[in-house]
Amino acid sequence: MSRNTSYMIDTIFIEKSARNFPLAKEVLKRFSSAQHIECSHYGEVFNRHGQNFRVQKNHPSLILAVKEGEFVLPAPVEYHVGGRHNYYFSHMLNCPYDCRYCFLQGMYSSAHYVLFVNYEDFKNDIANITKINSKDPSWFFSGYDCDSLAFDPVSNFVNHFVPFIAENSNARMELRTKSTQIRALNKIDVTSNVICAFSFTGELANRSLEHRVPENSKRISAMAKLQYRGWPVAVRFDPMMYYQNWRQDFSQLCLNLFKKINPAYLHSVSIGAFRMPVNYFRKVRSLYPTESLFVAGLHQKNGNYEYGLNIENELLGEAQAIVGQFVEQDRIYTMRD
Ligand code: SF4
Repeated sequence: MSRNTSYMIDTIFIEKSARNFPLAKEVLKRFSSAQHIECSHYGEVFNRHGQNFRVQKNHPSLILAVKEGEFVLPAPVEYHVGGRHNYYFSHMLNCPYDCRYCFLQGMYSSAHYVLFVNYEDFKNDIANITKINSKDPSWFFSGYDCDSLAFDPVSNFVNHFVPFIAENSNARMELRTKSTQIRALNKIDVTSNVICAFSFTGELANRSLEHRVPENSKRISAMAKLQYRGWPVAVRFDPMMYYQNWRQDFSQLCLNLFKKINPAYLHSVSIGAFRMPVNYFRKVRSLYPTESLFVAGLHQKNGNYEYGLNIENELLGEAQAIVGQFVEQDRIYTMRD
């Protein structure tokens, strides 16, 4: 499977109410030769019955929509890198990559991209939350239901959100990515309260499970370029996969990574074992019935499919020790329930 990120969009669905937003106009202009179809609500297209996620993934359409309801939500308790107030938000649903373990396949019946064009509403929520938590910084994790940077040439997310966060000294934002898409970050001023967090799995998992995701070596180079310019960078080893030789793969990944990344200037490392809510897991497993990942030592526990305690302790404990050879322990976080 190709590892090139494609921004080829043949069809764009536009909510009537989204049309007049500047971002919607920019995107429609960029893809002026695509078919433009108006709809009254994105759910008509995105939640339609009888869709085939796998077929759509080969050629997703783009939906421009106006997000309603809650824009920024409290993050799960284990989801933090040292901050007290933690939130997440998603300016997009879905992403151009095709990871076998991606929970979005279990959550959504559609692989189309949804881009919410009312960025100002997200920003207002972020500003209000930082005012409420005025004594401590508030953390905003982006890219929860997407990848923060992979679609940036279209979403222009970096140019819209990074300068905004830069002006709010009480806000911290994590851009989480598996991409090499750092063009916009390279052109703007470095911001100490925006952390560029790159997710990695060992070589075998990257090659066999992370379809279309750029190779680890290319992402390490992108991360090194950002660090060289002074951007705070972080590493996310999440999800960690358990397979024979995972330890050797992981050790090699750390060697390759810390040859190029200076651990002294690394913001943080987080480590989490694979886990997925039961309903999503069943759906994803039915998409790939022969995928060995979905049988290896996973159990139903606390509403999730996750590794048994022995495997989880082995993965997290040993990974923490390996990372600890390079990075001080107080910057390593393990994601445990
Ligand atoms: S990069 Fe993240 S959001 Fe995209 S397919 Fe992989 S796991 Fe899912």
